[in-house]
Amino acid sequence: MTPGKYMYCPHCGRELEEAIIEDRLRERCPKCERVFYVNPLPVVSCLLVNSEGKILLVLRKNDPYKDMWCLPMGFAEVDENIQQAALRELEEETNIKGRVIRLLDAETVVSSHYGNMVILAYEVEYVSGKIKAGDDAKDVRFFPINDLPELAFKANLTAIRKYQESYGGLD
Ligand SMILES: [Zn+2]
Repeated sequence: MTPGKYMYCPHCGRELEEAIIEDRLRERCPKCERVFYVNPLPVVSCLLVNSEGKILLVLRKNDPYKDMWCLPMGFAEVDENIQQAALRELEEETNIKGRVIRLLDAETVVSSHYGNMVILAYEVEYVSGKIKAGDDAKDVRFFPINDLPELAFKANLTAIRKYQESYGGLD
């Protein structure tokens, strides 16, 4: 089953049918006529570099990619401003309050676990807090930008490369 797809209407319980709507095959409820659009999930990540030029990474506690390092990241909630979502994830996972500087990168990532995701990577500066692993993290640490562990998401590495390039190639 494709991630994010329904078999039955979550509103009335009728089995869904397929129909061509707006030039695409989509699921539709024959009873209440709702169309179930399946869209990529928005994911936000934070690239925070300390005064020594080290990058803040999180060791994942849960699957997918359990026990691998990644940028602080997570899904945006439905009612959340996208930049606030990034800062919330940063604080939840690392206990650091930050401020968004700019958007570094946007990538489409196909995940067998979640379906298509759009990962937005923000460069973030430190505001306050002492690093401490949150509930979703096993560990939180700063790593030298040229000596990073293997990362769970290639999109994280792309964002880090773009950060490096924009500051004149630190490697
Ligand atoms: Zn229905």
